[in-house]
Amino acid sequence: MTINRRNFIFTAATLAGVGVLSSVFPTFSLLAQTLTTADASIVNIDKLRPILLEDAQYRASRLGLDPRIWSWHKDAADPMPANYYEASLADWSAFGSLPRDLSCEVVVIGGGLLGASTALHLAEAGVDVILVEKDNIGSGASGRNGGQMTPGIARWEAETMLEKLSSDEAKRLWRFASVEAMNLVDELRDRYSFGCDRKYGHITAAIHAGHMGPLVANADARRRLGDTAVKVIGPHELQEEYVRSGIYHGANIDSIGGQVQPLALLRGLIYGFAKLGGQIYDNTKVTGIRQDAGGTVVETERGAIRASKAVVLGVHGSTGKFISGPSTTMPFFTYVAVTPPLPMNIKDLIPSDLPIYDTQLQIDYYRAVRNNRLLFGGQGTGNSWSPRDVNNYLLERIRTVFPQLEKPELEYSWGGISDLTLNGATDARKSGDSVPVYMVHGWSGHGVAQTVRIGKAISDDFTRRNNDFTMLTSIDHMNIPLGSYLSPVAIPLVKGVLGVISTLNPAEMVSF
Ligand SMILES: Cc1cc2nc3c(=O)[nH]c(=O)nc-3n(C[C@H](O)[C@H](O)[C@H](O)COP(=O)(O)OP(=O)(O)OC[C@H]3O[C@@H](n4cnc5c(N)ncnc54)[C@H](O)[C@@H]3O)c2cc1C
Repeated sequence: MTINRRNFIFTAATLAGVGVLSSVFPTFSLLAQTLTTADASIVNIDKLRPILLEDAQYRASRLGLDPRIWSWHKDAADPMPANYYEASLADWSAFGSLPRDLSCEVVVIGGGLLGASTALHLAEAGVDVILVEKDNIGSGASGRNGGQMTPGIARWEAETMLEKLSSDEAKRLWRFASVEAMNLVDELRDRYSFGCDRKYGHITAAIHAGHMGPLVANADARRRLGDTAVKVIGPHELQEEYVRSGIYHGANIDSIGGQVQPLALLRGLIYGFAKLGGQIYDNTKVTGIRQDAGGTVVETERGAIRASKAVVLGVHGSTGKFISGPSTTMPFFTYVAVTPPLPMNIKDLIPSDLPIYDTQLQIDYYRAVRNNRLLFGGQGTGNSWSPRDVNNYLLERIRTVFPQLEKPELEYSWGGISDLTLNGATDARKSGDSVPVYMVHGWSGHGVAQTVRIGKAISDDFTRRNNDFTMLTSIDHMNIPLGSYLSPVAIPLVKGVLGVISTLNPAEMVSF
């Protein structure tokens, strides 16, 4: 944290002035492109455009981090090395903290994919927005996830939508959470011309022959919703053409899903927002939200921001601190690692270059990343595991999936925090206040594409373009009293029970 504050001395006041002037005089946004400053020097906003390096380069992290999690590098001299995503992007400007009390139309809280997408779409609609982040852009899950793009509203997939909704509603929600979410990522990448290593297609591989039934049912449910993107294949085709592992019994090949470098995507969205004159303040922790006669005041450790029209909570697991409604989520820790460049061609392991999820209780997920490296993630734990335990676990999983990699090694690993709801769907709400507060949480480890799409839905609701966000708020959720406190006990307990069920009946697909 000290490292960040020392390194990120930004003249945010300039950016603030730029944002306000840009909204008043559209031509000023042209000037804005040359006026972002760092260390009081003139910087072109184009320098915020993410630049992917040919390979990751070890360095200390410039991102703040929740004290419960960590990043590890095999040669780390620094206590907080950059994770693989940060290390594989060129150094990037950060933003100073809130310089003084300000006001705007909409305050977006949280510099993850949800906050960035919402802020960008609102700015595109001409709304005056300030985005605040307690650490840095990408310090949360959006800069630390597996980068797999899968359809669905978190764990609400096609079958559940068909079960819970009318056919028309289910079709609309599925389209929103699949093709629209994926396409929007591409549109934004193209509109703001940034790279994010986007690739197309996704594999869900069956770890037991009995899991092929649910995979076929999933493909069938998607077809009933008008989605013909899934092809079901058997083990030989899978092994020959897609992934050279002998542990699978077949798979669904999904042409809608895909992969992305998530921190590059996030920085790209922030770049777009800054280009439109958006104001961004990091190292600015929000401590409370209060309504008064003049609107709503977002209080931070650095000063207050008055929002005249709306507040958006894109704070993921911290949402409960700001809302008075029922608590519906429980946090969990989950982990990702990246190998050094492999001694063999990674195409001999994953000839299709598609990312893979499997169907076991504690899923393995992995994909090829730049310079012949393998990125591999898994586990969901109630307490944060140590780097040693995580590395041992993930190495053991890599050896199980790819025994041909005789002595796999890891170069990077890190933990992250996600949150789950009991029904598996994301919980979206909008308060009834005159200055409404929007919030979305409960991603269950799925949200790379959906955060981007839901950010647009929040903006569309605010500008009254459509009622997509209302569709999300109509999903019912169960209360989890004391969710965040119960998690260290409840997560292992639930996993234990589910583990027994899947051991007794391995053909049943039980996922966490
Ligand atoms: C290890 C891991 C692997 C994952 N893998 C995948 C995957 O492969 N595919 C997939 O689809 N999803 C995956 N996910 C889930 C996905 O990353 C999340 O759904 C998504 O990033 C959530 O985005 P967000 O913007 O809501 O939250 P975040 O990215 O967590 O952003 C929230 C931000 O709010 C800030 N904040 C919190 N409190 C405050 C405050 N008081 N004041 C100001 N700012 C505050 C935080 O610092 C943070 O930057 C994974 C998650 C993890 C942790």
